[in-house]
Amino acid sequence: MNKSILVLPGDGIGQEVTESALTILYELDRRYNLNLDVSIMDVGGTSYEQHGSPLTDEVINKAKESDAILFGAVGGPQWDNLPWNKRPEQALLGLRKELELFANLRPAFLFKELAAASTLKTEVIADLDLLIVRELTGGVYFGEPRGIEKDVVNNQGYAYNTMIYYENEIKRIAKIGFEAAQKRNKKLCSVDKANVLEVSKFWREIVEEVSNDYPDVKLTHQLADNAAMQLVINPKQFDVIVSSNLFGDILSDIAATLSGSIGMLPSASLNSSSQGMYEPCHGSAPDIAHLNVANPIAMILSLSMAFKYSLELPQLAEQLDNCVRQFISKGYRTKDLTDDDNFIYTNKVASKILDILDEFEND
Ligand code: NAD
Repeated sequence: MNKSILVLPGDGIGQEVTESALTILYELDRRYNLNLDVSIMDVGGTSYEQHGSPLTDEVINKAKESDAILFGAVGGPQWDNLPWNKRPEQALLGLRKELELFANLRPAFLFKELAAASTLKTEVIADLDLLIVRELTGGVYFGEPRGIEKDVVNNQGYAYNTMIYYENEIKRIAKIGFEAAQKRNKKLCSVDKANVLEVSKFWREIVEEVSNDYPDVKLTHQLADNAAMQLVINPKQFDVIVSSNLFGDILSDIAATLSGSIGMLPSASLNSSSQGMYEPCHGSAPDIAHLNVANPIAMILSLSMAFKYSLELPQLAEQLDNCVRQFISKGYRTKDLTDDDNFIYTNKVASKILDILDEFEND
């Protein structure tokens, strides 16, 4: 059966960067006879304007039957005062929930040509290439009971959350971590706080158990505070990191800041049947929307992740990654990556990347 992709450009620069990814997608489909079934629908503020809701049932149903979803970005000041359930960001949360996207994959990399853009020393950061696998639907962000209460005896308020993981939740995210490591350099570091938290001690035991199925992957463990420090001191020691929702949230933001521009970073959120939603890490950037200056590389690399994780086209993913690498090596820079006026506009990036693909093919 043909693989299907649902494209949801969304709002602001979401539309511009998705246009670039679509240009590449259509051309690859034509060139390599991929026979992909591509649909494009409204989401976010754009959907609210057209259909009265940021996420329609039609989109949810289409997303459920698609192998991969390419999601641009949603949001904008014109929708900031809408009621909570009408706000564009609800589309993102709704899709994650409806599709049970429990595994968030966030690569962090820095091409050596862009190392000067990082706050860290070039030798520490150049050629950084790691992947953070974060559990997305469990842990302390969702655990019950939770609340803010008043203790009448002591006459003071108190608040509490519950950090809880079931065995199956740990197993499925660990599996994603090991499988991702198998596709990379076969090193997995599991991050926890097993020295102080029962839930982390249990997490570590289950990850160890799952490791028996992946003898080719070297498993290590680090405490979350140390991992945060190591990410800044020596980030290149890592290949794949797997962690709970809370620790992954913090670590992936540290890793993102290592990488220079937010316009470069893709992400994937997967469920247990390898169905995935692929999106840049950035938002809809209303400050630069419609100026044709957004960096579409995060979106293009999100397409590449879709090829790799949901569409069974890993070689095409590698080819596209290489083209992007070459694009940077050749000195092309979008506005966010350069201080001078000699930058490339958003709508010219895709054709340059396809030119580079031609050069590879003719080599
Ligand atoms: P943002 O990521 O949209 O922008 C932050 C800064 O980075 C801005 O200065 C912007 O110009 C720049 N930037 C972002 N992406 C860029 C790109 N591809 N190329 C060049 N520069 C880029 O975050 P924000 O300003 O906090 O949020 C703007 C809107 O986006 C809000 O409505 C927010 O809710 C929404 N948002 C959506 C998502 C999503 O859809 N996944 C994620 C974050 C924020």
